[in-house]
Amino acid sequence: MQRAALAPAPASQALSDSHAAAALGLAVFAACIIGTLSRPVEFLASFWPANALMLGLILRRPSLARDPRAWVWSSCAFVCSSLLMGDGPAAAIWLSFANLAGVIAGWQFFQGLNRNTVLLRGTLSALFLLCGCVVQAAGESLVGFPATPFLFGGTSAGALFMWFTSALMCSMLMLPIVLSAPSLAQIRRFDWRECASRFDYLHLAPLITLIACETAAVLIGGPGSLVFGVPALIWCALRYQLFSIALLCFAVGLLKSYTASLGLITYTPDHMMDAISLRVGITLLSLGPLAVASFQAVRNELLNRLHYAARHDALTGVLGRNTFLEQCAHWLQKLGQDSRAAAVLMIDLDNFKGVNDTYGHAAGDALLREFTQLISLHLRPSDVLGRMGGEEFALMLPNITRDEAHEIAERLCDATRRHIFTFNDEVQLHITVSIGVVHQEAPPKHAMIELLLREADHALYEAKGTGRNRVVMCAHAVY
Ligand code: GH3
Ligand code: MG
Ligand code: MG
Repeated sequence: MQRAALAPAPASQALSDSHAAAALGLAVFAACIIGTLSRPVEFLASFWPANALMLGLILRRPSLARDPRAWVWSSCAFVCSSLLMGDGPAAAIWLSFANLAGVIAGWQFFQGLNRNTVLLRGTLSALFLLCGCVVQAAGESLVGFPATPFLFGGTSAGALFMWFTSALMCSMLMLPIVLSAPSLAQIRRFDWRECASRFDYLHLAPLITLIACETAAVLIGGPGSLVFGVPALIWCALRYQLFSIALLCFAVGLLKSYTASLGLITYTPDHMMDAISLRVGITLLSLGPLAVASFQAVRNELLNRLHYAARHDALTGVLGRNTFLEQCAHWLQKLGQDSRAAAVLMIDLDNFKGVNDTYGHAAGDALLREFTQLISLHLRPSDVLGRMGGEEFALMLPNITRDEAHEIAERLCDATRRHIFTFNDEVQLHITVSIGVVHQEAPPKHAMIELLLREADHALYEAKGTGRNRVVMCAHAVY
């Protein structure tokens, strides 16, 4: 059966809203604990993934942003984790408020954008992502920085820049991961076996080059080492999925930050301006690879759609004539090699012109769509259904006996006769089909699908001539 022919079922949410709100709170809490562990004594965390994680999750599931429970859970997560890690109540509340202000500012910014752009599947996504991260970082640092002289000492201006650049870097590294991560349903659907069977070691070349470049960056050092990995990252972006690129940018960003803090390259993060410059550099480092990867994602999506449209009938979604013939020829060859049988059916709706004439062309179109969905319900995954033109369809049933083929054809005829087709929820009509069937035992090497179709067409012609609404089996062997 051509599964793609049927309209995709609406994506069901794996978690109910209340569970999702609680899960968001838990995720924010875990991210806060990880962030707090990266926090130097008596200062703000240098890596704080919680805000970008929360923003990314509500962008992926916008109903969360409109659910007060999600905000309550997340606020509790911010405050509790802060208290747990030793902050006083005033500090915990102020810092949490600043975190939430950043998330709200980022959410407001992304609200104005198209959903594909937000989910990094637009041509300008990477630039908008950068702008969104700037807005989020500005939101949280502007609300939070007045508190830092009281909490940690130092100047307000210094705290503002340190907070802003740290938040900007974290968001730019974290947000793409959250936005591009596969959903649970996608992970469940993923065909690991097929992926493993297509694996090629050459596929690892961009990754190995990236590792070599980053190793050279650590060994050679110097200001230029910040961008040693850029060509390899761009190569990765041309070859790998967006999510993998987000992970690689994250890993490279963390590595740069870590090596800088070890003094392995010439930055001295003790010096505030150097730390600020490094963070901005790391932020901008991932922009190019992310832009290339999202552009690739857009291009691949368009190519897939084009490929699908070229192979399928636009009205019914079943295979188009050429693709049907291609797939059948392939099947015939395979069945011939294994000495197995196949049946080919020509299916034509009876007096279909009358439906158009009475109810209009739109009703005829709706009927054609409903008809293909109806017969698809009776087919096996290996069966091949195609639209040969107008109200005429062809069906190939591989690995089937003559009696079974006859039975299936009768079942299709019967199901169509019994079905009540509806149009615009008001017009209800009945229709019948005529079916011509040809059965072929072990097709020879030179067997041609066109010849089988011609014989099935003769049988169909006989079905029409003997009163319609019936199945006629071709009596003689084709090969
Ligand atoms: P028969 O039982 O002999 O097959 O009669 P019929 O009326 O089904 O066959 P005929 O060949 O006389 O008419 C086929 C009609 O199918 C004519 C055409 O307008 C209609 N048709 C072909 N393609 C489409 C389509 O895509 N949409 C709609 N609504 N009608 C279509
Ligand atoms: Mg017809
Ligand atoms: Mg016809």
